[in-house]
Amino acid sequence: MLKENSINPTFFKPSLNLWVLLDWIFPPFCVHCQKIGYEICPECWNGIPRLSNTLTCSRCGKQIVKGQTCRVCRDLPPAYDQLKSWSNYDDTVREIVIGIKYQRRLGLVRYLTPALADLIRNWQIDIDVMAPVPLGEKRLHERGYNQADLIAKPLARTLHIPYRPTTLRRVRETRSQVGLDAEERRVNLNSAFAAEPEICRDQSFLIVDDIATTGATLDACAAALREAGAKSVFCLTVARTNLSPNSNPKNTEVRI
Ligand SMILES: [Zn+2]
Ligand SMILES: [Zn+2]
Repeated sequence: MLKENSINPTFFKPSLNLWVLLDWIFPPFCVHCQKIGYEICPECWNGIPRLSNTLTCSRCGKQIVKGQTCRVCRDLPPAYDQLKSWSNYDDTVREIVIGIKYQRRLGLVRYLTPALADLIRNWQIDIDVMAPVPLGEKRLHERGYNQADLIAKPLARTLHIPYRPTTLRRVRETRSQVGLDAEERRVNLNSAFAAEPEICRDQSFLIVDDIATTGATLDACAAALREAGAKSVFCLTVARTNLSPNSNPKNTEVRI
């Protein structure tokens, strides 16, 4: 048995040891299957349906069955250059996103960061600045943090890309996107964002968010960045809801 004075006095100092201690008192459990000892266990993590081997629209990242771009992007190209997502929005990813968004489970972000960093490296795009999709003041106040910021910040640090979380701001509160179809979402978000010209001029951006459904939020962000002088705008989300051409985004749970 350890005597009191034999405990290494540095034990409680490094934050890593504090996390080890907290993990011992409150062991993590898998977000999907609840297996003890993991934020997400290897089986559940490996079962997430990545989009890297799937045919997707080269512009908006939506799954398509043939060709290069989807009909929507051909008819009405978005303001961003490209939108990519890491995975399909299945049950496990939904639980990861909810864990980060409502329970602040930062241990889950530590799994996502290297996976998203790999995606960006393979993408081979030039990025000058990274920024999150901003929350409105009211929602930021209610939740206390922006989940897109929790995802984007460690990613920018890993990739050594300058991170400017105040690049975009919401200039008006928007109603929830839940229950709106694609056109209603676009109208709802029209001029909802503004960007700082001093940060944006001639810069190439990567904007990060948790989920994309129709991509309307990222399209509105990209439009604000372009208006402020951005050279190019790329968008990345953790997940993409799998909408077939005939499915209705009204039935899809998304944030705003
Ligand atoms: Zn599991
Ligand atoms: Zn498309």
